[in-house]
Amino acid sequence: MTDRIYLSAPKMGEAELAGMASAIAADEIAMGTAIAEFEARLAVHAGTKGAVAAASGTAAIHLALDVLGIGSGDIVFCSSLTFAASAAPVRYLGAEPVFIDSEPESWNMSPDALKRAFETHPNPKAVIIVDLYGQAADYDALSEICTTHDVPIVEDAAEALGATYKERPAGGFGKIGIYSFNGNKILTTGGGGALLSDDETLLTRARNLAAQAREPALHYEHTRLGYNYRISNLAAAAGNAQLDRLMDRITQRREVFERYRAALSDIEAIGFMPEAPFGTATRWLSVMTMESGAGLPAPAALCEALEAENIEARPVWKPMHRQPVFTDCAYFTHGDNQSVSDDAFASGVCLPSGPDVTEDRQNRVIAAIRKALGKG
Ligand SMILES: *Cc1c(COP(=O)(O)O)cnc(C)c1O
Repeated sequence: MTDRIYLSAPKMGEAELAGMASAIAADEIAMGTAIAEFEARLAVHAGTKGAVAAASGTAAIHLALDVLGIGSGDIVFCSSLTFAASAAPVRYLGAEPVFIDSEPESWNMSPDALKRAFETHPNPKAVIIVDLYGQAADYDALSEICTTHDVPIVEDAAEALGATYKERPAGGFGKIGIYSFNGNKILTTGGGGALLSDDETLLTRARNLAAQAREPALHYEHTRLGYNYRISNLAAAAGNAQLDRLMDRITQRREVFERYRAALSDIEAIGFMPEAPFGTATRWLSVMTMESGAGLPAPAALCEALEAENIEARPVWKPMHRQPVFTDCAYFTHGDNQSVSDDAFASGVCLPSGPDVTEDRQNRVIAAIRKALGKG
């Protein structure tokens, strides 16, 4: 059997080993100086006053919603076309998500759908805007709407570290932004995340909640429930080495994307996730689309055909308003008869995009795609 090609495999090397080795040599395993360094560098990258590193991106979203005061019975708007971790923390806090469709330009939150949602639900406590597959949402349009309604944005930039919107970095657009360093993301700590903000009060509260909400007393006084959401110093040490690789990783992923596009350009019914003119995407995952009615396989069938060749591919995220766990939640579409997130789910496939996708291995993926499409 040929070796497996993954969708987005984690990759570390000598620099991460050296960083973790020096942390171990200094006995800085759980706590240590690598965490503060990681947080400072993330804040510089995002252009925010500060950052709090966390155990995961999901934990960072949970902390963000908690410090914004979201609780039982509150409504929180959230992009529908995303991974479940964007919305799950809303329910952790007893609040209700209301899902918002995408626009066709970037597949991110549709300003039109957001406006309609406000007509029905004028008082959400936050709007979670996702930067999908390495591309920032249209923050000028979305921020204007949220500012009018005086509702804070939580920017879920888990998939978009390194992406820009009008030359400004993804992660810095919300009242709070979050990153993920899960194994499949563009940079990884083997599991980790971060929360970013300009608001020192929110950052301090998040830092406290992430460490079990201890009051400054010798005997561990608690006036409310906290979480165990801190990152370890070892993971942060690896993260610092990963940050040095960000530009290389973006270049590599964009090259992978361009090779797919060039190699499949002769097949008319094939397209790709658009890159909106307002920003530069990282192409964290290369997403190919297949026109319906053109005799091509459905996304799941293509994934199965690739799996038979030991290649991992996935359909586009199943929208949250289609998920059994969220079926009772409201959903607002981009157009009267147009649900962009449903169209993306029906036509899109995420192709292997990680650091192990060398040119040779990508040629294997491309040949397998052409064979499955009957264009071999
Ligand atoms: C990965 C991801 C998360 C969660 O991050 P974890 O670090 O895996 O907890 C949240 N939102 C989106 C859009 C993601 O892709």
